[in-house]
Amino acid sequence: MLAFLFNIRRLTIAFLLCVLTSNSSSDIFFDPARAFQQDFYVQSNLEFTLLHELAHAVIELNDIPILGGQEQAADQIALMLLMMADDFNKKDINPDLLNKLLAISGEWMLVWEEEKHSPPVYWDTHPLAIQRFYEVTCLAYGSNPDKLEALRRDKILPVERAWDCDIEFEKTRQALAWLATKVTDFKFNKTWDLVRVKDSKGLFPGRINVVWIKPNSEEQKQIYRTLKSFTSLAEVLKRINSLLNLKTDITIYMEPFCRAPGAWWDGNKHSITVCYGLIKGFEKNVLLLPDLVKQLKSSE
Ligand SMILES: [Zn+2]
Repeated sequence: MLAFLFNIRRLTIAFLLCVLTSNSSSDIFFDPARAFQQDFYVQSNLEFTLLHELAHAVIELNDIPILGGQEQAADQIALMLLMMADDFNKKDINPDLLNKLLAISGEWMLVWEEEKHSPPVYWDTHPLAIQRFYEVTCLAYGSNPDKLEALRRDKILPVERAWDCDIEFEKTRQALAWLATKVTDFKFNKTWDLVRVKDSKGLFPGRINVVWIKPNSEEQKQIYRTLKSFTSLAEVLKRINSLLNLKTDITIYMEPFCRAPGAWWDGNKHSITVCYGLIKGFEKNVLLLPDLVKQLKSSE
């Protein structure tokens, strides 16, 4: 087990060194300076978090059957929604989207670093942070192996996993297409564009709304101002509202007063809570990246 963990750690070091110091083939797409720019990093991880919690909401409110665990399903739905948003899987790769995925995987990497000092419990429903890292990387790679060959060649994704990532992506995309037929008026056509096939919005008056809880301290007010300045938040919710058929409203509470940082879906209240502590954690983590890279470099 230790040897296995050690090998995983070596691969992780190889990844971080590669993406953060890359000057070869992968720098065409990856731009760590962009991905790890604080606002971009926080927005990307917030967007993923919201889509993950909304995936829980969609699964529960529509009695969607799940194989393989709710958390993996929510991660995959969130990632696919990001990737299918603008032809990422087709011939043109949007570099900003790739950097967004890099920001999300970077967060898993940092969480995994923290888990070394405070080991996670293995009975948790969430996969380990390092497994979520490989999930992001595999789906991204599988969406377009030709264009993202550097991920495999530079051993960011071990060849043993990379081998089947195109199949994993295809299966996940098929699942998303099936889900779309259950919870939207759209379906994917042969070229994987979303097309409207019915109009039943009248039967589904539910909307996703955001409620901002008034902050108290100066630190909370700063986070509030940062969150309010994120245009992507409103854009994501507008897009999901236009796609999703909801019988009832879902309320997203932007909450400064949580006991612990995090975000969660509450099926009884039909609400999603996003704690300011989580945002603070993203802001803190992105600042730790340069030191982590330095430390990993010196241990090479
Ligand atoms: Zn979850």
